[in-house]
Amino acid sequence: MNDSELHEYVVVGSGPGGAIAAHRLLELGKKVLLIDVGDDDPDLRGKIPDLPFEKLRTTDGNQREYFLGSAEEGIPRGRVRVGAHLTPPRQFVRRRADRILSTELSGDTSIMQSLALGGLGAAWGAGIATYSDAELAAAGLDPGLINSAYHEVITRIGASGVPCEMISKLGNRIPRPLPLDDNAESVLSRFRSLPKNSSEHELELGPYPLAALSESREGREKQPLHDMDFYSDSRRSVFRPRYILDEISSHPQFSIRRGLLVTSIKRAGSLMELKGVHVDGGEVWKLSARRVILAAGAIGTARILMNSPGLGENSGIQPLLSNPYRYWVMLNYPRLGKRSEKPRHSLAQLYGLFRHRDKPDSEVSLSFYSYRSLLLFKLVREFPMPTQIGLFLARLIVDSLVIVGVHERGTEGRIRLIRRSENGPAEIRIEAPTEIETTNLQLKSLARRLRGLGLVRLAEVDPGWGSSIHYAGTIPAGRAGVIRVGSEFQVEGCPGLFIGDSSPWKVLPARGLTLTLMAHARSVAEMAAGESR
Ligand SMILES: Cc1cc2nc3c(=O)[nH]c(=O)nc-3n(C[C@H](O)[C@H](O)[C@H](O)COP(=O)(O)OP(=O)(O)OC[C@H]3O[C@@H](n4cnc5c(N)ncnc54)[C@H](O)[C@@H]3O)c2cc1C
Repeated sequence: MNDSELHEYVVVGSGPGGAIAAHRLLELGKKVLLIDVGDDDPDLRGKIPDLPFEKLRTTDGNQREYFLGSAEEGIPRGRVRVGAHLTPPRQFVRRRADRILSTELSGDTSIMQSLALGGLGAAWGAGIATYSDAELAAAGLDPGLINSAYHEVITRIGASGVPCEMISKLGNRIPRPLPLDDNAESVLSRFRSLPKNSSEHELELGPYPLAALSESREGREKQPLHDMDFYSDSRRSVFRPRYILDEISSHPQFSIRRGLLVTSIKRAGSLMELKGVHVDGGEVWKLSARRVILAAGAIGTARILMNSPGLGENSGIQPLLSNPYRYWVMLNYPRLGKRSEKPRHSLAQLYGLFRHRDKPDSEVSLSFYSYRSLLLFKLVREFPMPTQIGLFLARLIVDSLVIVGVHERGTEGRIRLIRRSENGPAEIRIEAPTEIETTNLQLKSLARRLRGLGLVRLAEVDPGWGSSIHYAGTIPAGRAGVIRVGSEFQVEGCPGLFIGDSSPWKVLPARGLTLTLMAHARSVAEMAAGESR
């Protein structure tokens, strides 16, 4: 790479945001260079036979390698708070980031960052949701633009589900949902048979809308229900950003450079100068671009901008929004002693929305998983009893276990710059909010409602603030004293530098953010291309 290289459009990051932005720029006839570190582990992924979980457990002589890892890296050691469920074939998603992005954490904080091909989207759970118009407006997004982008994004990534409140904006256009397993079916049928509760809190429940295929399409097949979704990308059924990169890889206007870490950006006349390091050799590189879309993830984007001359000096502290998250290990007692017979996937089976009738902001979003293929020893760590007894108990009840993930509306912590670096990434510290809003009463009421559906809570795990792996709001619009975005999501003081991830959002609703993030990236690509309305 030579310092005088000039590119028309550069996209930084190949996660859900970057992949969608690059694709849209190409559709609009632009020439695009995508830069990423782009770690991957196709070899280990390739060693997993395309067979169901039970078959692999009973027949595959090589199963140890992907279930536990050749160095037993699939067995969490110590107090792993976030990412304990990242199996060996998924661990590449965070490996490089943990090694080279210096990140201190305040005591009750746990976060995950990625420098992988596809970013965190290489491991995401594919749960999709649309935000209401009020939520979009509160986040600083234009509902008109995002609502039409939702449709385009869904067509691109593929999805399945029933029209429901979670994806109300997609109407009837979404293909049928994946089949539910026995556990989820029993919970849902109990919910449907009960009279609508007239208490002050309302609960909505249904099959989880997923970016996973229930009908095969070009190059990808319908979900095989192998219960191997935490390990393999069987038949490319679950959307991964790298499928978009595969699709555009032969486009004459597209190029991708992997192995490059961007460390700073500065304005140089009418151009932008990007500077970074080769992650393998450590050499510094530079290039110039007319327009840049930063999609390095909300934390990654802030880290680059805080290290950038002319921008980073403005602030040593940026905000960070994340959804408080905990999960409940629950027993579906009406199914106790019954075997789970139906084939199933490992993604969320059911979603729930729980809120105070008069307070939409109190909405909590719930994802219901059955438990098997993640292997019991991980779960037993959370049981309040000796491991051997826990394991014995867990084996008896595994077919009637339900894990309920509870996401609350985003709260604001901060990113503090510790040290800028001339030729490397900035060092940062991430701090949880100092005042945590208490939602105990609402969660107590939720636990009561779930008990009415036959779900008894056995354990609660709170892995710390940031463990939802949902991040936004690091470069907010219109906030004094911080680096911020202005019109068309361009960084203030740096026209031509666009933000294509969730960094500019002003709030983070409880529902999963990634579909909205992709819709935002698409509309930012249109703005960068001068095509927005
Ligand atoms: C296990 C798991 C389950 C999840 N489940 C869901 C779910 O069900 N629903 C949902 O909505 N969300 C889910 N998420 C969250 C979702 O993955 C993220 O919201 C989403 O990936 C964010 O997309 P992004 O493009 O903004 O950033 P990222 O996915 O973080 O991608 C950032 C990209 O930028 C690159 N990058 C970063 N810094 C640099 C740099 N300095 N130089 C060069 N490249 C850089 C990275 O390599 C990466 O390619 C889940 C996440 C995980 C890990």
